[in-house]
Amino acid sequence: MYIKKNTLPAYPRSYELWYTYAAGYNQGLNRAINESIKTHGRIGTDEMLTLYGRFLSPTRLGDRLDEVGSKVSKEVEELVDTLKLSADAASDYGSALEQAGEKIKSVTDPEKLQIYLAHLVKSTQNAVSSNRKLENQLLESKNQIENLQSSLEAIRYESLTDELTTLNNRKHFENSIERIIDQHKETGEGFSLLMTDIDHFKKFNDTYGHQTGDQVLRLVALAVKQNIKSQDIACRYGGEEFAIILPQSSLEDAAAIGERIRTAVMSKELVKRSTGENLGRITISLGVATCKDTDSAHTVVSRADEALYLAKNSGRNLVRSEEDLAGTKEQEDVA
Ligand code: GH3
Ligand code: MG
Ligand code: MG
Repeated sequence: MYIKKNTLPAYPRSYELWYTYAAGYNQGLNRAINESIKTHGRIGTDEMLTLYGRFLSPTRLGDRLDEVGSKVSKEVEELVDTLKLSADAASDYGSALEQAGEKIKSVTDPEKLQIYLAHLVKSTQNAVSSNRKLENQLLESKNQIENLQSSLEAIRYESLTDELTTLNNRKHFENSIERIIDQHKETGEGFSLLMTDIDHFKKFNDTYGHQTGDQVLRLVALAVKQNIKSQDIACRYGGEEFAIILPQSSLEDAAAIGERIRTAVMSKELVKRSTGENLGRITISLGVATCKDTDSAHTVVSRADEALYLAKNSGRNLVRSEEDLAGTKEQEDVA
């Protein structure tokens, strides 16, 4: 529908762009499209390709990094050239001084002395002005490099953050869990892992729409943030699943935090802002595991996941831990 309305060729990229637009997950993209439609009435092919490149192309962050990288090396090259020039100017000034010194020794004629002195004043002025230029150029370069530094920081932030919830993204999770497992192997320091999943979220989306569903995701993310400490690492693991790494926390500590998050989510009554419609409440289920010496990222995530599914199967809106799992396995063995 969007493709037809905007008379665009049906490139696969068009489909991906409009699908993402309709799903509403990529807020930056939606903002840019709305803005463009508002100004031009429609989106042309070139614009579509530009938007794709900016918001969806898998290489977009890489391209921006390359761009910043080449700007940095250009800046450094210019700086080196400037420094070379100023070194040349300083050595010219040095030899002018030296020559003048030699000549002045043997001068008896005051007029000639005057000429030499005038030369000296001129060379000194040149040296001062080239130093001033150098100073300005160095200042300019310092500002440029600081700008590039903050662009790099913004790219880094974007590449590790989930846009919808502003929690850490899946990539950040993978990096963090690998790092904390390595640290556990080195220092023996423990950690626990909480996995959460919204209950019956598909039904919620089907009833109230994806946009409202997205608001719920933000709300759950907020409940997570408000109940963890600054050292804890909360991530959007997948669509409606969150993973929280809790450094130096026992299974019991982590389960208690899970319990706090669960209660915080269920205690919020959802009201649609635009209409005031009451949407009831939502609940989440949680699974907890704690690291063992033999764990890899995969094994500890699997145990937390299994505990989460136990919570789902035990009726949802519950926290279950890997210890509860051992209980069910024993029962299965006995049965
Ligand atoms: P369960 O209690 O067993 O977890 O049921 P469920 O319906 O939550 O689970 P299921 O995995 O079947 O469905 C997950 C749903 O989450 C599917 C999709 O509608 C929704 N979802 C996933 N990602 C997003 C998102 O980014 N935004 C919105 N609004 N919904 C999402
Ligand atoms: Mg799910
Ligand atoms: Mg779910």
